[in-house]
Amino acid sequence: MTRKLRLPVDSLLPEVIASLRHSSGLVIVAPPGAGKTTRVPPALLDAGIAGDGEVWVLEPRRLAARMSARRVAEERGEKPGETVGYQVRFEEVSGPRTRLRFLTEGVLTRRLLSDPQLKNVGVVVLDEFHERHLQADLALALLRRLQRTVRPELKLVAMSATLAADPIAEFLGNCPILHSEGRRFEVAIEHAASHDNRLLHEQTAAALRRLIAEGLDGDVLVFLPGAAEIRQAQAACEGIAAEAGMLVLPLHGDLPAAAQDRAVSPTSQRKVILSTNVAETSITIDGVVAVIDSGLARVASHSPWSGLPVLNVARVSQASAVQRAGRAGRTRPGRCLRLYTAQDFAARPAHEAPEIQRLDLAEPVLELHAAGITDPSSFEWFEAPSPHSLDAADRLLRQLGAIDDDGRVTETGRLMLRFPLHPRQSRLLVEAERRGVADDACVIAALIGERDIRQTGILSDRRDERSEAAAATGPSDLLYLLDLFAEAEAAKFAPERLRAMNLDPGAVMAVDRVSRQLRRMLNKRPAARVHSDPQADEALLISILTGCPDRVARRRRKNEAELLLSGGGAAVLSPASVVRTAEFVVAVEIEDRRQQRQNSRSSAPLIRLASQIEPEWLLDLFSDALSETNELRWNAQAERVEATSRLWYGQVLIDESRSVTAEPDKAARVLAEAALNAGLRAFIDETELARFLARVEFVARTFPEAGLPELTEADARAALAELCAKRRSFAELREAVRHGGLISLLQAKLTAEQIALLARMAPERTSLAGRRNVRINYEAGRPPWIESRLQDFFGMTAGPVVAGGRVPLVLHLLAPNHRPVQVTTDLAGFWQRIYPQTRRELSRRYPRHQWPEDPLRGQAKDSRE
Ligand code: ADP
Ligand code: MG
Repeated sequence: MTRKLRLPVDSLLPEVIASLRHSSGLVIVAPPGAGKTTRVPPALLDAGIAGDGEVWVLEPRRLAARMSARRVAEERGEKPGETVGYQVRFEEVSGPRTRLRFLTEGVLTRRLLSDPQLKNVGVVVLDEFHERHLQADLALALLRRLQRTVRPELKLVAMSATLAADPIAEFLGNCPILHSEGRRFEVAIEHAASHDNRLLHEQTAAALRRLIAEGLDGDVLVFLPGAAEIRQAQAACEGIAAEAGMLVLPLHGDLPAAAQDRAVSPTSQRKVILSTNVAETSITIDGVVAVIDSGLARVASHSPWSGLPVLNVARVSQASAVQRAGRAGRTRPGRCLRLYTAQDFAARPAHEAPEIQRLDLAEPVLELHAAGITDPSSFEWFEAPSPHSLDAADRLLRQLGAIDDDGRVTETGRLMLRFPLHPRQSRLLVEAERRGVADDACVIAALIGERDIRQTGILSDRRDERSEAAAATGPSDLLYLLDLFAEAEAAKFAPERLRAMNLDPGAVMAVDRVSRQLRRMLNKRPAARVHSDPQADEALLISILTGCPDRVARRRRKNEAELLLSGGGAAVLSPASVVRTAEFVVAVEIEDRRQQRQNSRSSAPLIRLASQIEPEWLLDLFSDALSETNELRWNAQAERVEATSRLWYGQVLIDESRSVTAEPDKAARVLAEAALNAGLRAFIDETELARFLARVEFVARTFPEAGLPELTEADARAALAELCAKRRSFAELREAVRHGGLISLLQAKLTAEQIALLARMAPERTSLAGRRNVRINYEAGRPPWIESRLQDFFGMTAGPVVAGGRVPLVLHLLAPNHRPVQVTTDLAGFWQRIYPQTRRELSRRYPRHQWPEDPLRGQAKDSRE
């Protein structure tokens, strides 16, 4: 048994226990290393605060849960799994005697689903609450709800290193707040004098070299953003550290437990610990006298404008930077080298935004629905998320088919809740189970959730993008990764062989672990995997689609990297993607690059993982989400209305076809518009129309009692428009006009009697003695007239009349040269007075024509026949 050191929190324990005897809530604030995590929970257990129940401690990280359990068990002279156990996603170490459990926050919300009353738990401690993880916020709100309803005796304790304690104490019913000052020593902070352009690992190595040169006499803790940066820094620092007789030890969540222990526990040799922000507050390491702070952390968030997740390296807040520096002053005065300038520090936000304000809420909202909270916006949160992100989560869950319109969890949703995954991944798994490909789908879900198994994938985007670009082509990045994983499996996961295959052994192991654990959660053992079975591949691709129904994309142009997204906007496919030809894909992993890479030329979202789909699958699976538009367009060249019907999935065009059947009324309107723009003259001979209108006008004027309407060009235009009904082209329209369609429509404005009257009183043609079929000209406001050769009138005593004899036609008598000799209505008078003289002139000019002396006896030979 380890000898128990006295820790600052120890002196606070009696007060902690006393206050929890009569309060159901408590807030404890003490600096890192004071002993909160390792001393408070066992003290509560031993004092019987949990009654017959267990003490549960929620940790923000798996690493912290595992290490804390191990430490507490050790201090009790036990092993984890006896009195003290832990449970993180996919891993549980506990036994029949376990009474104190360290869990990650997400595990608790899941537990609440199967055991809504949390019956066997007496105390829940929310550790490191200042980290404000989404799942911690959710757990707190659910626990508080439980306490206020069916479990009033449940005790809730919130612990934190940096908390502004008042709001949480208030949320817990104005509970007491206990402070432990702990002991802290001065830390001398030095900032970079100016911006350093060197790579991060070079800056880290330089800082280490300087510390050693300036007489370093303890351990160094280096804060770096992630595992990749840690690996690079390790390579850069190893030589320098070795010269000084120091070890370089990495510390992050993806390492095996033994490696994590080695970084934390005392060693005979001095050490340089390269850590992510786990060592900021949740893990305390004794012996640290100097800190090197990159000022960076990997931060998961999601873009509020696009709803897309963003994982990037971000500058930590001032509060985090202060915590990091404080790690050097635990046991004696220390120093901290910040790899950024004082101005940079001053420009940072005071605190990190809590996750609930920046993460995708689909998973917690589904859990809320499952807990019967159908309206998450009215749920009593510790800090309510924005209505916008709650809406987005609800919308996604509906699209995934996890909840129905009333906010109830569907059968699919219930099946999804078996898996401790984002709803996208669990939806994919449920579909794959239905299609008999769950075995592979477990690997795919793990590949989506864990970090990239390709070694180069994390180190440098640009380099590996190019080398990968030369390599594979395929329908889906996930099927490609699945094959890579199968190769890794065939290589028995031997690290050297994985590295030779350019795979990251840690990531491969994580995918293996997670996929095996998922497989255990399936309803029935999946059939064994059959590789490269086209049918199975298709089932997998469809399953992938069901997890990303909101992220359908279509390539803008053949084989180009730009895609249009169903949600709107465009994205660019990563050059590392193997999906080079598929026209329709889903963007499984897409990154919003607006906030980062300010100097990058393109700020369009980057699709890192894509997977081919067929548009027919959308029809099969999401017919409700499809919409159709019909557009009619005038093709001026072809003088034709063209109808295009388009099928849309969101903003993505799925199908386009020329159609003839669509909406004849609208087509007629488009044709009419074009026809009227072209004008009446384009369809009907001007004089023909004018003649008809004049005939009507003539009859109306001559027989006012018949009440004929006034017809104008406007009526003709209206008739032309009417003639467009069921027609689509000028050719059809002209054909119809040629067959009298336009005039018939105008006639239709008259009654049958009026039409008969028109025919009778304003005939279109008349006959002369020497010629049949002479057209009568009607013109608005003028008497009707005809013209014909003078000889055609020989033998006639009077000219023809119209209007039932009321109106004599004006006769244009023409010489053989078609010049009018006379214009008259009085033929008899002409013969008598003018003809004798005219005849002489005509005989002289046209001697070969007959010019009889007596025109009434003259041979009126029909010259046209
Ligand atoms: P707090 O939660 O207040 O930050 P902890 O309870 O985690 O503090 O740790 C208190 C002290 O116990 C640490 O300062 C460290 O000295 C020691 N300690 C905790 N965990 C370990 C461990 N796994 N190995 C060695 N020492 C540990
Ligand atoms: Mg702690």
